[in-house]
Amino acid sequence: MPVPRLLVAVGTTLATALVLGPAAIGATSATGATGAAHAAVTGSDSGGDPYFPLDGNGGYQVEHYTIRDDYRPGSDRLTGSTVLEARATADLSAFHLDLALTADSVRVDGVAARFSKPNRHELRVVPATAVTAGDPFRVVVRYHGRPASVVAAGQSPFSWTRGEGVAVGQPQMGPWWFAANETPADKATYDIVLRVPRGQEALSNGELVSREPVGDWTRWTWRMSQPMATYLAFFAAGQFRVEQTTAAGRPVVYGVSEKLGGTARAEAMALMRRTPGVVSWLESEFGPYPFTSTGGVVVGAPLGYLLETQSRPVYPYIGGTTARNVSLVVHEQAHQWFGDDVAVTRWRDIWLNEGFATYAEWAWSEHLGSRTVSERLRLAYDGRPRNAPFWGLKVSDPGPARMFDDVIYQRGAMTLAALRQRVGDATFDAVARAWVTRNARGHGTDAEFRALAEELSGEELSAFFAEWLDDTDRPADTEENGLP
Ligand SMILES: [Zn+2]
Repeated sequence: MPVPRLLVAVGTTLATALVLGPAAIGATSATGATGAAHAAVTGSDSGGDPYFPLDGNGGYQVEHYTIRDDYRPGSDRLTGSTVLEARATADLSAFHLDLALTADSVRVDGVAARFSKPNRHELRVVPATAVTAGDPFRVVVRYHGRPASVVAAGQSPFSWTRGEGVAVGQPQMGPWWFAANETPADKATYDIVLRVPRGQEALSNGELVSREPVGDWTRWTWRMSQPMATYLAFFAAGQFRVEQTTAAGRPVVYGVSEKLGGTARAEAMALMRRTPGVVSWLESEFGPYPFTSTGGVVVGAPLGYLLETQSRPVYPYIGGTTARNVSLVVHEQAHQWFGDDVAVTRWRDIWLNEGFATYAEWAWSEHLGSRTVSERLRLAYDGRPRNAPFWGLKVSDPGPARMFDDVIYQRGAMTLAALRQRVGDATFDAVARAWVTRNARGHGTDAEFRALAEELSGEELSAFFAEWLDDTDRPADTEENGLP
C-alpha cells in the first residue's frame, strides 16, 4: 500500500485503530487447550497481534472460504453467506469469527449453532457439539448489512459512492463482507461468488470462473487457488469497463470504473495495460510470479491509497502512464511477492512488505537507466539531516498508528539498498530470491529475514540490522552500514 503524494491529504482511519469499544476491552477468553486436556475451551477472540487485538481468533485455522454475497451498489445493501472450512487446533466448546455485519444464522457441521455478537467486530459461536482438536469442521454463516455504514473496532474500511461499492483495506477488510479469521497469519484459498444487479460488474481476486445471468442478477464467480490473507481479498462492484486478455500464459483481467470520465478511463486502462511488462521485469528480478492470474482495477472512489490485493491490485484514479504512476504499478506488483505470497504474521514486520515494494521501485528506476539504487540510497540518506524526525521511528516496531508512515517505506528500502551495498549484488539477489522461494505461499518474519541474510552472506549482520531497523537515530555513514 503506498499513499500517492497527490492523495496524501486524504489520510486513512488508522489513527483510530486502537479505539476499541468498552465491551471489547472487558472481554475475557481462554487462549488454548494447554492445562485442560479433557475440557473443551473457548477459542480466543484475538489472533494475538497486539497492534490489532480484535483481529483474528484462536483455536483454529481456516483452509478455504466460499463467499456468496449479493450486493446492490445502488444502495450499499449486502446479503450473503460464508462457508469456512477450518481445522481446530484445540478442543473448542465455543470460538470466535470476525464479522462486522449483522449475523442471521450459523451452522457448524450442518447443525444450527448458538451465536452472539459480544461487540461489533466479533461473532461468538457455540456449536451444539464441541469441535475436536485436529479435526476439520465446517461453519456456514449468513449475514446482511450496509458495509459502508458499519464501524467496528474503530474502523470503517468499506468504500461506497452511489453506484459503486469497494471492499479494499489494510489491515482490516474481510469482516465487512464475509465471516473471517482476520489475520495475515491465517491464509486460505477462496471461491468468491458475487451477484450484482443484472448488467453490472463485480470484480475480485484470481481467475474469473464464470459470469452468468441469474434472474435479475449477474453472478460473477472468482477463484483464488493460492493461499491468501483475508485483507488481500477484495471486491469492486458497480459499472466497470472490463478487459480480459492473457499474458505469459496467464489470464489477465482489468477493470476501470465507468464513474471516471472518458479521458480518465482511457488513461486508467492504459496504465493497467502496463501490468504484464512490469510483472515480467519483476520475474527477472525476484523469480517466478507467484499467482496464476493478474491484472488491476481502477475504482471511481477517491481511495486515499492503492492496495496490493492478491493477483489484482486496486487503484484509485491516479492518471495515465507517467513514470511516477508506472512506478506505483511496480510497487503494487512487487507486493505480490513481498506481502502477498510471503506475508507477515504480525503487523510490526510491515517494513518487509513496504521496504521491498519501495526497493523494487528504486530497482525499476535503475533498470530504466535513471538513478541507480546506490544513488537513491545516498540521496535518501544525505537528504535527511541527523536531527530529522525521520530517523526517530523504530522501523522494526512502528506501532499501529504509524505502520504506514513514509519512514517505513523509505527507511525500509534504504535498509535493503544498504544490505545490497554491504553484501554485494549477487548475494543480495540470492537473499531476495531465497526469501521468496523458502517462504512461498506462506509467511516470513523480520528475525527470519535477518537470519537468512547472515546465512547466505556468511557475515555477522546483527549490528547492521540494528542500526537500520531498531535504532531511532541516523545510522553512521560507514561501509559497515552499507553506505556507498
Ligand atoms: Zn505498499
